[in-house]
Amino acid sequence: MTRGNPCQLPGMLPNYDPNDSEAGMKILEDLTENVEQIQQRVLEEIITRNARTDYLKGFLDGQFDKQVFKKTVPVVNYEDIKPYIERIANGDSSNIISAEPIIELLTSSGTSGGQPKMMPSTAEDLHRKTFFYNLLVPVMNKYVDGLDEGKAMYLLFVKPETKTPSGLMARPVLTSYYKSNNFKNRPFNRFNVYTSPDETILCSDSKQSMYCQLLCGLVQRQEVLRVGAVFASAFLRAIKFLEHNWKELCSNIRTGHVSDWITDPGCRKVVSLVLNKPKPELADLIEHECNSKSWEGIIKKLWPRTKYIEVIVTGSMAQYVSTLEYYSGGLPLVSTMYASSECYFGINFKPLSKPWDVSYTLIPNMAYFEFLPVKKKNEDGAQYVQCNGVCKENCMEKETEKEDVETVELVDVKLGQYYELVVTTFTGLYRYRVGDILMVTGFHNKAPQFRFVHRRNVVLSVDTDKTSEEDLLKAVTKAKVTVESLGILLIEYTSYADTSSIPGHYVLFWEITSKGNNHLPVLDHKIMEQCCSTVEESLDSVYRRCRRKDNSIGPLEIRVVQHGTFDALMDFCVSQGSSVNQYKTPRCIKSGEAINILDSRVVARFFSQKAPFWEPV
Ligand code: AMP
Repeated sequence: MTRGNPCQLPGMLPNYDPNDSEAGMKILEDLTENVEQIQQRVLEEIITRNARTDYLKGFLDGQFDKQVFKKTVPVVNYEDIKPYIERIANGDSSNIISAEPIIELLTSSGTSGGQPKMMPSTAEDLHRKTFFYNLLVPVMNKYVDGLDEGKAMYLLFVKPETKTPSGLMARPVLTSYYKSNNFKNRPFNRFNVYTSPDETILCSDSKQSMYCQLLCGLVQRQEVLRVGAVFASAFLRAIKFLEHNWKELCSNIRTGHVSDWITDPGCRKVVSLVLNKPKPELADLIEHECNSKSWEGIIKKLWPRTKYIEVIVTGSMAQYVSTLEYYSGGLPLVSTMYASSECYFGINFKPLSKPWDVSYTLIPNMAYFEFLPVKKKNEDGAQYVQCNGVCKENCMEKETEKEDVETVELVDVKLGQYYELVVTTFTGLYRYRVGDILMVTGFHNKAPQFRFVHRRNVVLSVDTDKTSEEDLLKAVTKAKVTVESLGILLIEYTSYADTSSIPGHYVLFWEITSKGNNHLPVLDHKIMEQCCSTVEESLDSVYRRCRRKDNSIGPLEIRVVQHGTFDALMDFCVSQGSSVNQYKTPRCIKSGEAINILDSRVVARFFSQKAPFWEPV
């Protein structure tokens, strides 16, 4: 984008050569310099295009003005727009929410009434995503040299899709993108060459896809400059897969033949080409590394030229950082972007920063952004309250409240403040609450940067306590330190509020392993009980009051589960409509079926033996 001529393509997308890093950086500078004007233009364009849609005309009455828009169009949750989405899914093709045709519905990781939420998408939006992905390249090039001298082993997956009654595809956003021509026919970019042939990414059998992608990555190990997956959990799943399958992979490399169970014709063909001929020396080398007693630093050993691991490790993924560090041998963990099914939001301009320092700069031509100010929980136990009163005390999940709310604009957010993100997109969402809580950490030019804090309403509650995902992560992290010093790694965890007996209590399910040998460690009662107490001591003041003074919460329990339990949980969630790619372990389980899956695999239970410290604040 050049000044004075900011956006040449429809939908405010500047045109440039993605191989030209300098041009890419220039665009980012211009976008972040001209935030106010761009946001104004984005909103004008969205309103002008869509004012006559069923949804907007009810509020705007033909007026295209920003103030009218903000005054009359309500801030909404999914439940508010669901009837409109359902009309689209059921084949009503009139301009319901968007003047541009909705070409597919993107199934988000959130659920509504047991069904995945569905977000609208248009043809133009694929170009917006391509534009966004292209901008990640110059940012990485600024910090890491020579990325055009090798390949990226990115493990990317698609998930089966369904059709709505109207014939529209309903599928996760990444599946939609990988299956689009924008991905499949992407122009060659020397900074973005993958070890995985497209056929292996697009293979609908996730096991074959994983096997083939790892095989291709191992064969090309000397060319690999970075490895990754979208989320940390997916990457760790790949490491586990490798742990289980390296012998067979090595045998394929040794003989030059792909295993017979790889039946997907596309995969067989491309993988055979990559394998090319028997490579016994390479197989010996990989076998030697995989055979070693400890897998500490295995990534660096198998892919020696790797400069970093590209996986999202912010938000709920932060709990994977230490496990990733263990396997990576100290490679930087890079969270490049913040995005969702609704819209792609922001880019991490300092990709080499530590996971806990990561901030995302919202890109102002992606959508029109607004922010609902949010107050952090007070020490005195006041609830998670929004300044504007949308979420009142004791309201746990009042997602559908429709009070008048005051939002602030992108250029008006304040450093250190917490906000909930609200978007108006080019695809038919108007003032839609994404459900993410963000904190302003700084500015890049005039564009604010945000730390992802957590997703709204991911909480545990037994009495008046309300524990957010972030609170739980912090408490578990403290307890984790106790066990880590004893050579035990906490691999996965989730929780639920067990109210089947009175008083109810928090239950944490832990999957743990011994550092190095991948076995279930011998569990010391005293230490595990201490872990329960440490979690309790680290929870907030209301929790501790309820537990200690009111006795309205019972002792916290840790249930250690056998290996593979969280894989079973994921399989269950996927069977319920979650995407493999976008799957994130839920930190709080509510479904009885999911709890049964976990409970049936419990190998030991431990309870806190003392009430945590509490005094009135
Ligand atoms: P989905 O709509 O299923 O793709 O999920 C999108 C959600 O994933 C976002 O609204 C966030 O809550 C979460 N998410 C996406 N990117 C990140 C990130 N970089 N850091 C933390 N959470 C993220």
